[in-house]
Amino acid sequence: MEHTKRQIALERAATLKKTIQDYLHAKDSIPCGIHQSQEIRQRQDEIIRKMGATRENFQDWHWQLRNRIKDVETLQKYLPISSKQRTDIENVSKVFRWAISPYYLSLIDPKNPLDPIRLLAVPTHFELEDGIHGLDPMGEEYTNPAGAITRRYPDRLIINVTNECAMYCRHCQRRRNIGDRDTMTSKKVLQESIDYIRENPEIRDVLLTGGDPLTMNNQHLEWLLSSLRQIKHVEIIRIGSRTPVTMPMRITDKLVTMLKAYHPIYLNTHFNHPQEVTEEAKKACEKLANAGIVLGNQAVLLNGINNDPFTMRLLNQELLTCRVRPYYIFHAKSVRGTAHFNTSIDDGIEIMEYLRGYTSGLAIPYYIVNAPLGKGKTPILPEYIISRGKDSFTLRTWQNEVIQYENHPSIDLKKILLEEAESDRS
Ligand SMILES: *Cc1c(COP(=O)(O)O)cnc(C)c1O
Repeated sequence: MEHTKRQIALERAATLKKTIQDYLHAKDSIPCGIHQSQEIRQRQDEIIRKMGATRENFQDWHWQLRNRIKDVETLQKYLPISSKQRTDIENVSKVFRWAISPYYLSLIDPKNPLDPIRLLAVPTHFELEDGIHGLDPMGEEYTNPAGAITRRYPDRLIINVTNECAMYCRHCQRRRNIGDRDTMTSKKVLQESIDYIRENPEIRDVLLTGGDPLTMNNQHLEWLLSSLRQIKHVEIIRIGSRTPVTMPMRITDKLVTMLKAYHPIYLNTHFNHPQEVTEEAKKACEKLANAGIVLGNQAVLLNGINNDPFTMRLLNQELLTCRVRPYYIFHAKSVRGTAHFNTSIDDGIEIMEYLRGYTSGLAIPYYIVNAPLGKGKTPILPEYIISRGKDSFTLRTWQNEVIQYENHPSIDLKKILLEEAESDRS
């Protein structure tokens, strides 16, 4: 008897082992930052040398911001760029700003024409060929009740604290705000935002976003955090920052020591591809996590970059090793200049299909389509309910087995307990 049970378990284990072979095989050909430390280090040395800088400069986030690459002449020193690409980049520059931190540049493999980091960071002609999309599909301008606030939900809102970033994502949904220069939201407008929150006691969750709030210096950021913390009803503060990915040297001991005085603080970052998960990025995440900051990731589903179930599975698993919990995969929004990155919703559903069951539940984010005009985040799942009967559901499992599950109304437990308590007393 025991022998048969063990036999069944062994057979099932053998089948499961087979189920994962295709992933294990594919995984080795997906570029991964952690395995490229040496190449990245060499590219950094080259950047440092060509910029006439030092390793110490390179580790300084102010230096990184000041030395962002934003012209083709400089970019050409590090990446092969055809004359056609050069013209394209120059043409895009007239419409949409671009800039790349030296650190983020060092993640690009110059030999790979499909390099995901390059696609995320370097402009292409596609940006000028998108004639269909508007610049504000979310209607953020219609959801700005005060200061630099966007309010779309009953109990939480965002404050756009700056338009500056360490690099400007080519898929940016807020490119209309990026403009052509860096502007911190003025203290007056921030104060108006803080006043609005103080006057609206149902707001319990405040998100700082932008741009990238961690391009603010510690002092300015601390002023904002301490002002928010003085409001009793603000329960949690969230920071949306891509610096762990694009400028990890921003995460200094000083920063995390300052941040942890204002707990509970959550930070959602934005990794899109395993190639972004480097030693440096991992250290930055560990530093934040060690300071008690809860980390999440908001990826964007991007054509040619991560619209592939195995790439997304690997990304989410890598993130867990950095103590970052995958939170959202956003369906790319329809923002002008980004049409080439848009995928079908089917791509997103397929990715979700190949996460559930195949990997840790912790590695499974929500897949979100943002309803137009700021009508809210809408979760999308593969269909697991096949049909609803009178007393049962027909479901399917992650392995596509169809099962029946009984469904009965719950008994009124509280009523029974109260009645029993009453009869005990009498
Ligand atoms: C995304 C977003 C939030 C946060 O949504 P969660 O689902 O709570 O992460 C809040 N306000 C606005 C305007 C947003 O776009």
